[in-house]
Amino acid sequence: MRHCIYLLILVLSQIALGQIYDPPPLNPDPMLEGTPVTEGATGGVMPTAEWQINNPALNSVHRFKKPLVAREKTRVAVLGYHNFSETKPVTEMLMRTSELRNQMEAIRQSPYSVISMQEFLEWRFGTRLLPEECILITLDDGWRSVYTDAYPIFKEYGYPFHLFLYTDYVHGEGESMTKDMIREMLNNGASIGSHSHTHPYPSDWNKHREEGEEQYLRFIDEEIGASKERLDSLFGGVNTYCYPGGYNDQVMISRLPGYGYVAAFTVIPGKVTSAEIPYQIHRYMIFGTDASIFTNAMDFRVAEGGTALSTGSQPGTLPKNTPKPSFNVTPLPDSTVGCSIPPITAQLSGIPGLNMSTVRMRVSGFGYVRPNINKTARTLEWTPPCRIYMPNISVHLTWETTDGRKHHAEWSFRVDRAVPVD
Ligand SMILES: [Zn+2]
Repeated sequence: MRHCIYLLILVLSQIALGQIYDPPPLNPDPMLEGTPVTEGATGGVMPTAEWQINNPALNSVHRFKKPLVAREKTRVAVLGYHNFSETKPVTEMLMRTSELRNQMEAIRQSPYSVISMQEFLEWRFGTRLLPEECILITLDDGWRSVYTDAYPIFKEYGYPFHLFLYTDYVHGEGESMTKDMIREMLNNGASIGSHSHTHPYPSDWNKHREEGEEQYLRFIDEEIGASKERLDSLFGGVNTYCYPGGYNDQVMISRLPGYGYVAAFTVIPGKVTSAEIPYQIHRYMIFGTDASIFTNAMDFRVAEGGTALSTGSQPGTLPKNTPKPSFNVTPLPDSTVGCSIPPITAQLSGIPGLNMSTVRMRVSGFGYVRPNINKTARTLEWTPPCRIYMPNISVHLTWETTDGRKHHAEWSFRVDRAVPVD
């Protein structure tokens, strides 16, 4: 529930990050080091048949559906799930268990391979090759339904999956899982990362930040650093972090390597490439209320000129029949917001050749509006000057690129004034 609030300010928190920290390298995978490779049938490279036969331990290569390719040709869609039920009301964070099964079946019928977090990290840090299109499954928070509903499905399909747990929520209380449930899954295809200690709201981070640098660093040490130590002592093997609600800042990022994290995940959708920033990894949060997110995640098409479609970071030219934005916007397309005056934002930095001075924004009920434009960060932000009373708002953006072409995108969201303002 909290996450949808975070998403609204997420774009703003992501744009200020200039300095990037490279994590410590992973140890090279001994199984792949010096791997003799051969040309695959479709131009990729694969370990030679003889080598594969002599290394049956490398099961992952055998379950890939397509040949391995050069590192920079691979793209990964990271999926993020939360909670499941066949009977409770569906929300952004709660999905029908049968819908999860449908999605896993869609992956099975697709040409895409599901990879483990270990394989993902080895690929990102250069010690493993993967097929061209891959899927990585992650689940946040540690809801008990992950064990009761999702785990049997992953087991049935043979898919590895990665749990992001926060240490306040691994004791079997409320709707959390017990340690034994987590341990059983770790023995059957799961891996884990940290999702903080108490899952703080952005307001919690801000409160400690305002108390001064020392207080803030202590809070980060406790939430991000100590949570890894606790999870390591309980389960072992933690080297990934997932920002609660996607909320992150440069101070957090600068401390991640020191705690021993090699990668951190956001909630910004987009395909991950080999050049991905390790501490701001894109991820598609799969909402129970919006089937289009999974569809976008599964869309690996590449537009003419080699630009990927449907990526948050590197959108290509929008096809005429796909008016939804392929860049990050808030409120999220087709989402429901409870705040009566939601800021409307768009992050346009991924549009190649964008001419910022040509961007126009139109909002239903308001006509053309004058958004605040940050030319350096390439962001737009406009907050309606009065309460919105219309239940549906659509936002229309037009812009030109330096090649003189005109582009447009449109999305809409619902305003539900019955939902309390957070
Ligand atoms: Zn969470």
